[in-house]
Amino acid sequence: MKYVYFFGNGKADGNGEMKDLLGGKGAGLAEMMRIGLPVPAGFTITTEACNYYLAHERKYPSELRAEVSKSLARLEKSTGKQLGGASDPLLVSVRSGSARSMPGMMETILNLGLNERSVEGLAQATSNERFAYDAYRRFVQMYASVVIGLPKEDLEVRLRNLKTKLGVKDDTQVTAEGWRQLVSEYKLYFKTKTGKDFPEDPVEQLWGAIGAVFESWMGEKAVTYRRVERITGLLGTAVNVVQMVFGNRGEDSGTGVCFTRDPSTGEKIFFGDFLLNAQGEDVVAGIRTPMPLQELKVRMPKVYRQLERVREQLEKHYRDMQDMEFTVESGKLYMLQTRTGKRSPVAAFQIAVDMTEEGLIKVEEALERVKSEDVERLFYPVLDPKLPRQSLTSRKLGEGINAVPGAAVGKAVFTAETAEKWAASGEKVILVRRETSPEDVGGMYVAQGILTATGGKTSHAAVVARGWGKCCIVGAEKIDIDAEAKKMSVNGHVVREGEWITLDGGDGSVYSGQIALVAPVPPKAFATLMKWADKVRKIGVRTNADTPQDARLAREMGAEGIGLCRTEHMFFKDFEHPEKSGERQLAIQEMILADTSEARRKALDKLLPFQRRDFIGIFEAMEGLPVTIRLIDPPLHEFVPHDPDKQAELAKKIGLSAEAVARRVEQLHEANPMLGHRGCRLAITYPEILEMQVRAIIEAAIDCQKRRIKVLPEIMHPLVLDKKEFKILETATRRVADQIIAQSKVKLEYLVGTMIELPRAALLADQIAEVAEFFSFGTNDLTQTTMGLSRDDAGRFLPAYVDQANAAIFDHDPFQTIDIAGVGLLIEWAVARGRSSRPKLKIGICGEHGGDAESVKFCHRAGMNYVSASPYRVPIARLAAAQAVLEEKKNKGGHKNAS
Ligand code: PEP
Ligand code: MG
Repeated sequence: MKYVYFFGNGKADGNGEMKDLLGGKGAGLAEMMRIGLPVPAGFTITTEACNYYLAHERKYPSELRAEVSKSLARLEKSTGKQLGGASDPLLVSVRSGSARSMPGMMETILNLGLNERSVEGLAQATSNERFAYDAYRRFVQMYASVVIGLPKEDLEVRLRNLKTKLGVKDDTQVTAEGWRQLVSEYKLYFKTKTGKDFPEDPVEQLWGAIGAVFESWMGEKAVTYRRVERITGLLGTAVNVVQMVFGNRGEDSGTGVCFTRDPSTGEKIFFGDFLLNAQGEDVVAGIRTPMPLQELKVRMPKVYRQLERVREQLEKHYRDMQDMEFTVESGKLYMLQTRTGKRSPVAAFQIAVDMTEEGLIKVEEALERVKSEDVERLFYPVLDPKLPRQSLTSRKLGEGINAVPGAAVGKAVFTAETAEKWAASGEKVILVRRETSPEDVGGMYVAQGILTATGGKTSHAAVVARGWGKCCIVGAEKIDIDAEAKKMSVNGHVVREGEWITLDGGDGSVYSGQIALVAPVPPKAFATLMKWADKVRKIGVRTNADTPQDARLAREMGAEGIGLCRTEHMFFKDFEHPEKSGERQLAIQEMILADTSEARRKALDKLLPFQRRDFIGIFEAMEGLPVTIRLIDPPLHEFVPHDPDKQAELAKKIGLSAEAVARRVEQLHEANPMLGHRGCRLAITYPEILEMQVRAIIEAAIDCQKRRIKVLPEIMHPLVLDKKEFKILETATRRVADQIIAQSKVKLEYLVGTMIELPRAALLADQIAEVAEFFSFGTNDLTQTTMGLSRDDAGRFLPAYVDQANAAIFDHDPFQTIDIAGVGLLIEWAVARGRSSRPKLKIGICGEHGGDAESVKFCHRAGMNYVSASPYRVPIARLAAAQAVLEEKKNKGGHKNAS
């Protein structure tokens, strides 16, 4: 097996396709070398070697040593320099790089190859002793902390003491002699701590660094990042050993990160940051605040022009937005990395649409590139534009660089640990840090937003947050952050831990207190891409909506009807006149507490006008589109109070004794209410509830129809078990509906169907379909009842089932993404059996899975007619439905969609 891939002198063993084996960085370097870009020579040790190392008790594959020696010799030959050489020595960087980008989560060692001898050689070759010893101390410092694991702080303290002793503030003011002293101190410290001399042999240094990079794959921050980003199935990290080039060799040197398009807006402008006279790590770590790339045009016009040509070439070559790292060494440009750039959700749409219109990619590729998370995050909130400017100005604390758009409100916390702890107990937090380091990733993930005092748009915090579409402000330099004292101060204001702040990632403003946020207006590119998706997809997309407001919103989001209207929500709240909610609550409570059917009917008569008005509102909002209305579903005890005071209050209102109310509530108690007296079982035992609800639906429909508002009602019964039960419900429904229609003399068509949310119903689907005109899979309950997992309580232990580092029994939470293997099998069975007795049976899904991309794709494959999702997830479903068609095309031989 080949474990090492060389690149140099315009040739490379590997190429850009080999990301799994060479990691993103290694594949990018090989590809850039092949297409003639200025890349320093080097070699990549494969992810397979890492995998071997981790699986064999930290032993390298037997062939690796020889392969590395051979490649090192090739590198020395191609550069004409020697690692550890006495004159003009070769120095290398040793960097991690896995198949999926994990910014800053793994280790890097720079300037490797320096020792007492070669540092002199470097000083001579560069005629810059200060530079050489600065490089040397950086190497010793990195090696000691990264490879050996000595505490960073112990090293930093020595650096700070040196500067105090020399009476200087900045690193740039330290002399060659100062750095030489520091190296000696580091080495002394190294010896005391390890009992060994600091390694002089560059080959020994190299193996130490290779091992450390491999180890960093299993480091805590990398493991956390993979967990939160759900990265699984990779072999490990590759190791890139590359000739060092220096951005810190003077004012004609520098280093930077740039993007072929703006990663925040997607605009086609050359975008980036750079630092003069600095090493690459300084930009990424956000320690110094860099200058915008446009400055490079002024400072080094020739290099800028060359870099622009590279930008064009790489974007054409990769046909996607690239994120590149470069270094200028004494006026000469080197490309150190290229990868597909992380982008904000807005940019994801903009770039996909622009590239299609530019002819760079096809519509299908544009649709494949946008992810469901991008759609979701597009609707992240912004500051309410209606807020008066003045009130905002008075609350403004300061500003920083607007790294990731969107807005966030939360309580200020100053450590990632606190962020995680507070978020776990349900608090909304904003993580405020001087700079973020990869250790902070867990805290960053749970925070609503991130604020840092240092860094640019390409700093660690910005890159990571952008990938999550999370509001992030960096480089807020005027804000003085004191993590130890748990406070920040700016312009005379002090914000302590736990105080509310608001971030506006759109313009970089930081405000005190909680400011109202609203959903943003999506960009034009969103509408364009969604139109393309609608042309491609085959499955319909409806929405779950219980109010006219939600129905209207869902229509704007592209919903083609309502797949589930949960009528019981209307019992709790009057959405048009919230102040009147009490009236309907009282009526339903009266109905529940009644002990004769006559008393029940009286209470139901009070509810009827409320329900009818709600249905009219929904039908109007959905004019011309189908609306599935489900009859009452939850167990009745959910509608009545359980604490004695509230019971007494209710008793007074409806003229019963407190004891009578308490007794009735007690009677309603069930040990297992989810499997109890709920769903259509309520309509079987209290047919008057069904009668009132059907009456309200049909009267509302007739009212609309008379006003020429076209309605297509679909009446749906929940938790049905079999044909016999459903037949009783269907007959009762039609009796009420047909009588009202006949009396009204209006022509009205309606359907009667069922939810499939019990395994028994799925198994007996052919019989049920003899009566039911449609099926809608209630996969929340179907998952619960198939898997025997309580949808309300499973959260307590499910994380362990899903966690890849733990039991790893499921790939996903089955309540979020359909369990295709089990629940999916029942669905496929029910679809086939249902259509065997009614070929045109209309089939949809209305469980939460209807808004989950992977589940939508499954529903497409299963041959459903539509999925139904909450309003904001409608676009996710539209896109996933289109992607399902494209995937099917790719793996020809898949099932054919039935609709
Ligand atoms: C379901 O069970 O999937 C469903 C849509 O119904 P509910 O969530 O209201 O129980
Ligand atoms: Mg249900």
